[in-house]
Amino acid sequence: MIKHALNVTRDGDFAQWYQTVITEADMAEESGVRGCMVIRPWGYGIWERIQRLLDDRIKATGHENCYFPIFIPLSYFEKEAEHVDGFAKEMAVVTHHRLIQKDGRLVPDPAAKLEEPLVVRPTSETVIGAAFSRWVQSWRDLPVLINQWANVVRWEMRTRMFLRTAEFLWQEGHTAHATVEEARDETLKMLEVYRSFAEDCVAMPVIAGEKPENERFPGAVETWSIEAMMQDGKALQAGTSHFLGTTFSSAQDIKFQNASGEQELAQTTSWGMSTRMIGGLIMTHGDDDGLRVPPRVAPWQVVIVPMLRDNDDDAALIDYCKSIQQELAQLSAFGEPVRALLDLKSVKAVTKRWGWIKKGAPIVVEVGGRDMAGGNVSVIRRDRLYREDGKLDSAIVARGDFVETATATLKGIQDALFEQAKARTEANITRDVTDFAGLEAFFEKGGKTPGWVEVNWSKPTGAELDKVVERLKALKLTFRNVPIGAAPAEGSCIFTGAPAVERILVAKSY
Ligand code: AMP
Repeated sequence: MIKHALNVTRDGDFAQWYQTVITEADMAEESGVRGCMVIRPWGYGIWERIQRLLDDRIKATGHENCYFPIFIPLSYFEKEAEHVDGFAKEMAVVTHHRLIQKDGRLVPDPAAKLEEPLVVRPTSETVIGAAFSRWVQSWRDLPVLINQWANVVRWEMRTRMFLRTAEFLWQEGHTAHATVEEARDETLKMLEVYRSFAEDCVAMPVIAGEKPENERFPGAVETWSIEAMMQDGKALQAGTSHFLGTTFSSAQDIKFQNASGEQELAQTTSWGMSTRMIGGLIMTHGDDDGLRVPPRVAPWQVVIVPMLRDNDDDAALIDYCKSIQQELAQLSAFGEPVRALLDLKSVKAVTKRWGWIKKGAPIVVEVGGRDMAGGNVSVIRRDRLYREDGKLDSAIVARGDFVETATATLKGIQDALFEQAKARTEANITRDVTDFAGLEAFFEKGGKTPGWVEVNWSKPTGAELDKVVERLKALKLTFRNVPIGAAPAEGSCIFTGAPAVERILVAKSY
């Protein structure tokens, strides 16, 4: 039996395993403030890669970055009832701007109370809408296509590192358009940017589709999402794109004069992807030895570990490793220079090896005196760690051959991680449940969440939808989305019995 690097397995306790990976891979730690985490260099390095690759795609689709204040006047929210209702329960509010000493303690100074409380942004539609109303006068000013990278605060009751934190990092895109058609096109264009980014860069297969009415963003006309299946069968909403119609333009007065001289309200959109993506990466690719980072988002793609002996031979070994590192840096993988680290920390080589395995560096290269003498290196590929006999698969390769094939190996690892996750996702979506009893039976199977089901539904609204949602809630289930490109619905809705109009995904979710 293989003795794995972590002391807990995915099968044994998935939630505990997730937390252990975060700790053992040095990704993040508790900060002492509930729901807020310290993101450590390896976790933040992955976020920087995500930012870089997603930012390129956001700019390539015509958007520009800008920055808005973290504080939003309370009155901005009052203008939009539905939106404030959605967020009121989880807002952090600043009420004072000075502290004073009282009985040996620091307390807010009653004399320094703000005239109008300021909300720490939970999302920026309101404040960006106010700017749009200043920027937009005529149809010539449209479309406005902007994005911001920022932190936001939502006072979530149940938090979990990366997946749901009180403060999180994200990008939020905000756009204004002259027509409904253009704004809806934008909503779907950015959904597609999210889908391709998740699949091509994070190697995370997703299903893109429209959320049902009860799952819409507060104030949205339509909400679209990408949903990813984690290794425990639960769904993770990994990004959302909203068509907001005139909800915010009427509240914030974003008006323009159209080509025939009439005043019209602009049509707006917003879309966001957050540090939750890192939680999704862990639960998509991690294994019982830790994280496995897809090469495109790995801060270091190749880590070179010299087996130093603390003797006179070390200098030559370090030179040998340096020259390999330099050769790798000349190469290009996925259109960027290969990121190779030479790990010279004064730590035992075997500790370094397992440290990088737990962190999930795609390739770990170990070099000892004997490797150097033979002109070789020992190569460990993180996507396939063990041989069939259960031994660690460390292959001795001529250094020239290793360098020559490194780009192809990285590509191979990226593809292999995607294919594994894709096969698992596909195998765990059931499409032949035809009644509610069948749905209950499916989710009762064993103790573990067996995956998702895609079923017929009649798209009920209002109170009728609420009833369906309650029935699902009793089974700890939620609607995920109506997949784009799902087969047409034939037959009747498994919830209402009415003729089905579309297919919808049901799952347990994070
Ligand atoms: P929303 O503005 O609600 O559509 O959120 C945009 C995206 O941010 C969602 O699709 C999630 O992936 C992510 N997100 C929402 N809430 C949190 C949270 N508390 N922690 C981390 N990510 C979040």
